[in-house]
Parts: sequence; C-alpha cells; structure tokens
Amino acid sequence: MLFLLSGPSGVGKGTVRKALFKKEPHKLLYSISATTRKPRRGEVDGRDYFFTTKSKFEEMINAGQMLEYAQYVDNYYGTPKNWIDDQREQGNDVFMEIEVNGAMQVRAKVPDAILIFLLPPDLMQLRNRLELRGTESDEVIDERLKTARQEILMMTNYDYAVVNDKVDRAVKKVQTIIDAERLKAKRL
Ligand code: 5GP
Repeated sequence: MLFLLSGPSGVGKGTVRKALFKKEPHKLLYSISATTRKPRRGEVDGRDYFFTTKSKFEEMINAGQMLEYAQYVDNYYGTPKNWIDDQREQGNDVFMEIEVNGAMQVRAKVPDAILIFLLPPDLMQLRNRLELRGTESDEVIDERLKTARQEILMMTNYDYAVVNDKVDRAVKKVQTIIDAERLKAKRL
C-alpha cells in the first residue's frame, strides 16, 4: 500500500511524519526523496534525503526515474520511482510526505494510493484573524485567502483530511487511517 501525507506549506507535515515514524518504525517504509537543496545541519544523505545536483536531478527526470517531482522554493524535490516499485512488489507499505503538486501527480499515476491532507487548524478563521490583526493590506489578505482557497480545493482530491491542531492528535488520526485502510485490505 502507498500512503501519502501532503498539505499546504507550513502546516507541519514533517513534524507529523517524524512523530508517526517514532511510533511505527517497522511497519511502514519511508520514501526518501531526492532534492537539490543543501542539507541542513543534522541532515544525513540517504536518511533524510538523497542530496543531489540540479543537473543530476534533471537527468533523472529525463530518464523517467521520478514517480513525481516538483519545484519548491527554487529547488527540485522528487520521489525515485524504482525504490517505490520494488517495495510495493515485495508487499511492503510505503509512506510518502510531499508537497501538493507532487501529490496530484501520484494521484494520477497510482490510483490506489491513499492520500491524506493535513490542514492547519485555523483555516476557517483565516480572514477573521488576518483582519483582526490589521497588519496586512486588503490586497495581501485577499492573496493569502486566494492561496488558502486553492489549497482547500485541492483537498477534494484526497481521501482523508486531518486537522493538525495538536501533533499527537494528528498522528493518532493518521495512524487510525493507516490501520483502517490496512484492515480494509486485510493487511493487519
Ligand atoms: P524541506 O526543504 O522543508 O525539507 O521540504 C520542503 C517541501 O518539499 C515540504 O513541503 C516537503 O513535504 C516537500 N517534499 C519533500 N520531498 C518531496 C518530494 O519528493 N516530492 C515533492 N513533490 N515534495 C517533496
């Protein structure tokens, strides 16, 4: 099975994924992405990402080796296809954590993937909050709400939505989704 966690930037996908893996390290395999961004302090090549160059990344794209990829803040991020195929052939469950454009590519290519959308807790109150804060101009508020609306529209392409109000609670919900889907597929 292929589980995928995505959602708007800054919603806490990485935090939820890391907390989930602390709980369940052996049953799910984390799909390590390739990226052209530089490693951050403490990140390890082959554990957090496969760090690579722009030209090598573009070679992989041209050779059809990416299940999906996206450009995010001037860098490429993508999922190497071979590894995913191998794991799924061996009957292993894979977990991906990626941004929304890549998630839609996976939706199109892997119809049985289970897509989980992580939401910020205060989306509905966004306009209120922005207006009350009074620091943003009307144009900026409109722009932010436009982005938020586009992100909400994307949500309809997902199988589940989880509000990230508290990390522990969000992790529990993701875990419940995984358990339920495995039960449905009789894989528990
Ligand atoms: P960061 O640079 O903070 O590690 O990641 C930036 C963004 O890229 C996050 O939203 C993360 O989910 C996303 N991301 C990480 N790996 C991939 C990937 O393989 N494909 C896509 N499309 N996005 C990714």
